[in-house]
Amino acid sequence: MTSVGKTGFAYHPDYVNHDTGPGHPERPDRVCAALQALQASELWPKLYQIEPTCATVEQLSYVHTSDYITHVQQCCEQETNLDYDTPVAKETFDIARLSTGGVLRAADAVMEGTIRNAFALVRPPGHHATPIRSMGFCLFNNVAIAARYLQHNYGIDKVAVVDWDVHHGNGTQDILYADPSIFFFSIHQSPLYPGTGAANETGSGDGIGTTLNVPMSAGNDADAYIEVFETTLRPALLNFAPEFVIISAGFDAHHLDPLAAINLTADGFARLTDIVVEISAETADGKIISALEGGYSLRALSESVVAHVERLIKNASRIK
Ligand SMILES: [Zn+2]
Repeated sequence: MTSVGKTGFAYHPDYVNHDTGPGHPERPDRVCAALQALQASELWPKLYQIEPTCATVEQLSYVHTSDYITHVQQCCEQETNLDYDTPVAKETFDIARLSTGGVLRAADAVMEGTIRNAFALVRPPGHHATPIRSMGFCLFNNVAIAARYLQHNYGIDKVAVVDWDVHHGNGTQDILYADPSIFFFSIHQSPLYPGTGAANETGSGDGIGTTLNVPMSAGNDADAYIEVFETTLRPALLNFAPEFVIISAGFDAHHLDPLAAINLTADGFARLTDIVVEISAETADGKIISALEGGYSLRALSESVVAHVERLIKNASRIK
């Protein structure tokens, strides 16, 4: 008999009810495939199950304007798409809040000490959503809301967001650009949607130096990513010394992904996970929550999620 370990897993069956229509890459099958892969693996009985609840409007307002939140709610009620990439239906407003809430409940479980780290298999994703605008399949910025939630509710001072989705996390950057208390790191393919994330975008005002962008040209592989994580991310984060680390875990830098051209493998994501866990063990007592962003090849997504969660479990059990 396997005992439940120190890694949590947040998922809600309603995530599949966000219907983006035929041919849309951000489709319900994504979370189904990843869930089935986890359930079929030896990892499943070791995961502590976390039940998502809807984020409140107040929690959304940690990063979004009330006008924007109202706009999203009205567009959903009227079934008017938010933008060209981001279709919505009546139920989408609640499902998007449930997506954010999956990440917040994972944060709660880590802060309560029930678990050490967690993976939130959520959709819709969030990292392109700005304070005032949906973009790129994203309605509410799950990770930025979670970072501010940790500060508001648990007295955490410094949080780091590590975004390895193949697209630049422009929304997260916008929200945090002038905020010196939350470090934002993004490694992404460039040029690629949404076009931001140049190396000289390093923050503004008090936040100068707490945004770190590493654009990568198409064709780069895991070794190149590891090099960046070891020589750029590790020293920067150890210097910043976050008390909590949040991963914007997109898996679209996988070589099979149809939307990009970076050549990571599932093992590459496992190695990136190891490095982030090592850093968090040094500065944040191993506290990590990881939230799904992109990843549009079902096979690549499933294999990468299993590899990622396997390392979260392995490392969580090592930290005393
Ligand atoms: Zn992406």
